Amino acid sequence: MELNDEQFNAISSEIIKKAGLFKCPVCGQNAGYNFAPTEFHVLAGERDSNGTGLSFGGQSTFLRVVAATCPHCAHISFFNLVRLEKNIAGEK
Ligand SMILES: [Zn+2]
Repeated sequence: MELNDEQFNAISSEIIKKAGLFKCPVCGQNAGYNFAPTEFHVLAGERDSNGTGLSFGGQSTFLRVVAATCPHCAHISFFNLVRLEKNIAGEK
């Protein structure tokens, strides 16, 4: 799901406000991070009885996130979009 310009600017500003110049936790790169203007979802599926299969059905639980990709090592960092939206709205 694409974020509009207003949403994306508010979210990226909030991350910069709280995290400063974001530093990759893997390689230490601290410039050129690529924040995608997209809302991604981390899904919580159900494991089968063997624990080897995963299914997503009905009302799956999910976490709304935005993602930033390190330009050096390609590590992806997720930020909780619900928390960011609460911070932007001044909620605790
Ligand atoms: Zn990196």
